Amino acid sequence: MTLLLGKTEPELIEFSNESGEASFRGKQIYQAIYARRIIELSQITELGLALREKLGGSARVTETEIAEVFSSTDGTRRYLLRLGDGREAEAVFMPEEQRDTICLSCQVGCAVGCAFCLTAQLGVKRNMTAGEIISQVIIVLNQVYGTGVRPPHGINLVYMGMGESFLNYDEVMKSIVIMADEKGLGISPQRMTVSTSGIIPRIRQFAAEPIRPQLAISLSATTEEQRTALMPINRKYSLADLLKACREYPLGGRERLTFEYVMLDRINDSDQDARRLVRLLNGIRSKVNLIPHNSAPELPYAASPPERILSFQKLLADKDLPAYIRRPRGSDISAACGQLAARHQAHG
Ligand code: SAH
Ligand code: SF4
Repeated sequence: MTLLLGKTEPELIEFSNESGEASFRGKQIYQAIYARRIIELSQITELGLALREKLGGSARVTETEIAEVFSSTDGTRRYLLRLGDGREAEAVFMPEEQRDTICLSCQVGCAVGCAFCLTAQLGVKRNMTAGEIISQVIIVLNQVYGTGVRPPHGINLVYMGMGESFLNYDEVMKSIVIMADEKGLGISPQRMTVSTSGIIPRIRQFAAEPIRPQLAISLSATTEEQRTALMPINRKYSLADLLKACREYPLGGRERLTFEYVMLDRINDSDQDARRLVRLLNGIRSKVNLIPHNSAPELPYAASPPERILSFQKLLADKDLPAYIRRPRGSDISAACGQLAARHQAHG
C-alpha cells in the first residue's frame, strides 16, 4: 500500500508517472491533500472516478485514524490516534484567543528516559514517518474546523508530544518542509518549534537547515550531576557540551533560543539553581520557559510550589533573562507536557 501523505510534490509526480498517469495528476493530489486537507482518495474528485478507483487499489492518503478524543475544561483536546500498524500516538490541540497550538508526536514512545516524563516509561516503539507526523495536523484541523476550512487564526506547531525529534531527524525535517510549503498547509517555520533533550550533532545539523523552525532545548538542571540524574542523555551529551553548541548556534535577527526547565519540588528549584542558570546561559540570546512539573502516579516528583516558581522567575528576570511560567494545559485529561503515554483514560 502506497501512502500519499508525507510525499513531496516531486514524489507525488513520480507516483503518478509510475501509475501510468501524467505529472499534473501528482500536482493535483499534492494540492488536494495539503491545501484542502482531503484524506480520502475517493474525495479528490478532480481525479475522476475511474482514476480514483484505479489508484485506490494500491494507494491511500493516510492510515492514521482517530481512536479517541478527550476534551479538557480549559478547551484543550487530546487526540489519541491509531497508526497503520495499530500503534498509538497523540496530538494535543490548545486553543487561545489569538492562535491555536498543536502539539505533535514524532515517535511512538521515547528512548531518552527522562526521569520526570511519562512518555519515557513506554520506551521507544518506533519512529513516526513524515506522513504520520503531518496526519496529526490535518486530522486535528479537520476535526476542529471542518475539512479544508481555513483556521480563523494562526496555527503554531510544537514538536513537544511523544518522542525526541532529533532521534528521528530526517522524517521530522521532511514533515517541516512539507508543512511549510505555501502551496500546501503553508504554516510558517517561524510558527513551529522543535524541542530537543540535547542531541548535539543534530543541533549543529539543524543550524544549517535552509527551512528552520524555532529551537527549544530542554535543560531542567544546572549541574552535570543533577542533569544526569534527571536526563540520562546527559551522559552522552553533557551540559557543558550542550551549552557550547548553543553558544555556537547561529541565531537569526530577533531569534532567541528557548530553554525549557521543568520545575521539580526541591530537586532543581533552589535560588542557587536560578543563579547557576543565569550564569550558564550568559552570552546566549535566550528565554526560559519554566514548566511546573505535571504529575502522574508513576512519576516520583511533585511540582514546585507556585511561590517558589515565582521567586525563581524573579531571580532570572532580575538578571535580564526573560522567563515565562507555562500554564499547564489539559492536565485533567492527561494532555499536559510529559503526560502523553497513549492513555485511553485520563488519570483518575
Ligand atoms: N522530547 C522533547 C520534546 C517532548 S517533551 C524534549 O524532551 O525536549 C516537551 C517538554 O516537556 C520538555 O521540555 C520536557 O522536559 C517537558 N516535560 C517532560 N515531562 C514533563 C512533566 N512531567 N511535567 C512537565 N514537563 C515535562
Ligand atoms: Fe523523551 Fe522528551 Fe520525555 Fe525526555 S522529556 S523522555 S526526551 S519525550
